[in-house]
Amino acid sequence: MPIYEYECAACGRIAAHVMLGSRRAARPACPHCGASRTRRVMSSFAVVESETSRLANLDTSRRPDDSFYSDSRNVGLWAKKRARQMGVDLGSKFDETVEKARTGKLIKDME
Ligand SMILES: [Zn+2]
Repeated sequence: MPIYEYECAACGRIAAHVMLGSRRAARPACPHCGASRTRRVMSSFAVVESETSRLANLDTSRRPDDSFYSDSRNVGLWAKKRARQMGVDLGSKFDETVEKARTGKLIKDME
């Protein structure tokens, strides 16, 4: 049973979908925001790691360079991992802020 990952064009999040025979051609809607503009991504490529693996692979002993942040999905990741290592609970508010930063809503809110 093939499992594909789809990236949402609206919110940029990735969701895995199990494709069943007749539904193979249909693109699933984003489970996070409901947008129907999704594109299939190849999960075997390192650039589409899940956040879990991104967190696991992230080396917080050195500052990430600018290219790291050119991928919006990496926004907030560094702070998140550092906080986890220090045993700090950032709470849901932090996730919300990161989400806003990733989607550009934070900038809009500050305007
Ligand atoms: Zn979405």
